[in-house]
Amino acid sequence: MSINPASATVEKKLRSGTSVWAGSAKAQMHALKDSIRADVVIVGAGVSGAFMAHALAKRFDKIVVVDRRAPAHGSTMASTAMLQFEIDTPLTELSEKIGPSKAARAWRRSWRATQAIAKLVDEEGIRCGLRRADSLYLAGESMGSRGLEKEMKARHRAGLPGEYLDAKRLREVFGIDRTGAIFSPGATSANPVALTQGLLQRAIRDGVSFYSPVEIKDVVATSHGVVLDTGKHFIESKHAVFCTGYELLKGIPRKGTKITSSWAIASRPHAKLPRWLANTLIWEAANPYVYMRTTPDGRLIVGGEDEDIDLPSYRAHSMAHKTARLMAKAKKLIPNLEFTLSRQWTGAFGESEDGLPVIDRVPDMPNCIAVLGFGGNGTIYSKIASEIAPTLLRGRADRDADIFQFR
Ligand SMILES: Cc1cc2nc3c(=O)[nH]c(=O)nc-3n(C[C@H](O)[C@H](O)[C@H](O)COP(=O)(O)OP(=O)(O)OC[C@H]3O[C@@H](n4cnc5c(N)ncnc54)[C@H](O)[C@@H]3O)c2cc1C
Repeated sequence: MSINPASATVEKKLRSGTSVWAGSAKAQMHALKDSIRADVVIVGAGVSGAFMAHALAKRFDKIVVVDRRAPAHGSTMASTAMLQFEIDTPLTELSEKIGPSKAARAWRRSWRATQAIAKLVDEEGIRCGLRRADSLYLAGESMGSRGLEKEMKARHRAGLPGEYLDAKRLREVFGIDRTGAIFSPGATSANPVALTQGLLQRAIRDGVSFYSPVEIKDVVATSHGVVLDTGKHFIESKHAVFCTGYELLKGIPRKGTKITSSWAIASRPHAKLPRWLANTLIWEAANPYVYMRTTPDGRLIVGGEDEDIDLPSYRAHSMAHKTARLMAKAKKLIPNLEFTLSRQWTGAFGESEDGLPVIDRVPDMPNCIAVLGFGGNGTIYSKIASEIAPTLLRGRADRDADIFQFR
């Protein structure tokens, strides 16, 4: 099957404003000067493509990564990089959607991937400001204290850690006025741009070739392999993995997915914040939910205000209004919070009905795999994709692959 015309994925304005990671971005450019061959070509050098390149580097001889932008200059630059095992869809709700056994497997896989990211960053010595943290999931309009207690029990039954805090305890320990919360260990936060660049650099060290700016304009997939057309040259490969983020490959199934908009703001560094906030990520049982984290240089990042509209001009136009709302929400949640605005940004955001990603072979495109890391913990899904894709490429089945198939 061949995809046409202009590009294999429609280019979008994925983000606007200035995220806190803008200063970390390096524009690594490597022109593709000729047609080449590969064992695996990875399209996309965001955090998904970087995890993929790092994972495949030692398993295949010739890996090629291409991107029409510089590394991490797509959605990854907009990420607030809260790396949590907790999936947007509570375990109790996911159990109703896909059955308790699959739901528990999805949550446990997410837990393992979150721990694996911290281990990988540590072992590879990637300097991306990764910090271990706890997370505080507050009762909100979509789940009150009773729902949270039930959720905590379901998580414990699935073998996951955490503690339910009632309103009194929550007020005593954190000074937050909500009817309850789940307090969980095992999260981290990082600089997503530095993480992506670090992974890609290690992959290049291990023999991966990287070319940018290179746009894949057309793809022809057959049972013998895949030919990717850049407009000037061809890449002939045994396999292709599409890590193209929210710029979806034309023609792939989109059932149960949507692209929305999300906003985030950051305070100045060295903000006067409660001490516990340095190693606690906050989010809430609401849709959309507000969330918060800090950076190693003491900024407070607040995000949320998601809307079901994928319109770049609307995103940019709404920035001032969304900033005011995020600041007001943060101040309501954290008593006596001083917040001096320093950065504001917005981006496209992918959601799926069950909060899970797609990591699967592309129907009718032999030898092609797509990674659609939808949901608030897209980065965890990028890591899971880098674990599942190698088994798919070798024709074997990962034990959890069934959870992440096209719906
Ligand atoms: C405001 C906001 C906050 C977020 N917060 C979090 C968070 O706290 N935690 C979390 O885990 N996630 C978060 N996310 C989600 C996170 O940003 C995404 O899950 C992640 O960045 C997706 O990475 P990716 O590599 O799949 O996509 P991208 O970073 O977009 O990379 C895809 C790459 O593919 C390239 N590409 C596409 N088509 C082609 C083509 N035809 N030819 C060549 N190259 C192509 C693009 O140029 C791009 O660089 C947030 C997102 C937003 C917008």
